[in-house]
Amino acid sequence: MTNIADGKALASKIYEQISSEVDGLSKIPMLVVIITNDNEAGQIYVRNKQRACEKTGILSETIELDANVSEKELIGNILKLNKDELVDAILVQLPLPPHIDTERVLNAISPKKDADGFHYINAGKMFTGQIPNTVACTPKGIIRLLDEYKVKLEGLNAVVIGRSNIVGKPIAQLLLQRNATVTMCHSKTKNIETFTKNADLIVCATGQPEFLKGDMVKDGVIVIDVGISRKDGKLCGDVEFETVAPKASLITPVPGGVGPMTVAMLVQNTLDLTKKHIEDNQKKYITFL
Ligand code: NDP
Repeated sequence: MTNIADGKALASKIYEQISSEVDGLSKIPMLVVIITNDNEAGQIYVRNKQRACEKTGILSETIELDANVSEKELIGNILKLNKDELVDAILVQLPLPPHIDTERVLNAISPKKDADGFHYINAGKMFTGQIPNTVACTPKGIIRLLDEYKVKLEGLNAVVIGRSNIVGKPIAQLLLQRNATVTMCHSKTKNIETFTKNADLIVCATGQPEFLKGDMVKDGVIVIDVGISRKDGKLCGDVEFETVAPKASLITPVPGGVGPMTVAMLVQNTLDLTKKHIEDNQKKYITFL
């Protein structure tokens, strides 16, 4: 029987836990989001993120910059926030305008305030099995969701479709850390169905609407649909739900699956960074004494 993984319900549960933790902190956590005003899709995501913070008592501020902002000015804003003691977490909403080097901007954020876990130090620590300050929100949310549904990852034949730095590569790494056997597919993979048909678990992150179809998967497969696209004006994922769901033992819907988990993990990362700042400040104070 198909089990539909309810990311929205789990996100609500996580917000309750975060909210009670925030109440007990000596400092109110604060997230600052930077967005350029040409990023219309990003504006919607930013509003969702702000609402999620509000639910848990976390302060969130948005800095909206002109689309013509220079890279220097954008990085200047980040450097100021890095120094600001009140700010615990910084997020730069992607995509940035084409004249800006995204990697340079993301790496200007202090790794200790890296809400998205995209800084190369945090990503590098994750990839080398060390403990990063934060892990990228979407992959972290997927693992949290799989844990909630008690999926035993060890030994599973996992196929990740998509190899972006923000989803495909980190989720493959996290699955590997849990002892799954991971195959990565991408746009140059030949006969992708030969991989997907043998998969116990498929994470689909291509951005191609309804790419994964029922005849590409085996019975009992677990399917995580990361994609967010529009088809005929309707929101849809990378998975053709109608044909894949009947064969799946567990599947995430779009909307209501991975999306809410991504936002919940951003709030979780903000809380975790705040707790580390409080701890660091206490250590500094003790050393000073
Ligand atoms: P990218 O465009 O950065 O990466 C897409 C990946 O999919 C690439 O590696 C590409 O391969 C691969 N790909 C594209 N077409 C095919 C194909 N026909 N067959 C196999 N592989 C293919 O996207 P992101 O990883 O940033 O995002 C993927 C999707 O997930 C998007 O729809 C995005 O909106 C959504 N998303 C959703 C989130 C959520 O919270 N639910 C969070 C982040 C993203 P190649 O490398 O060869 O080009």
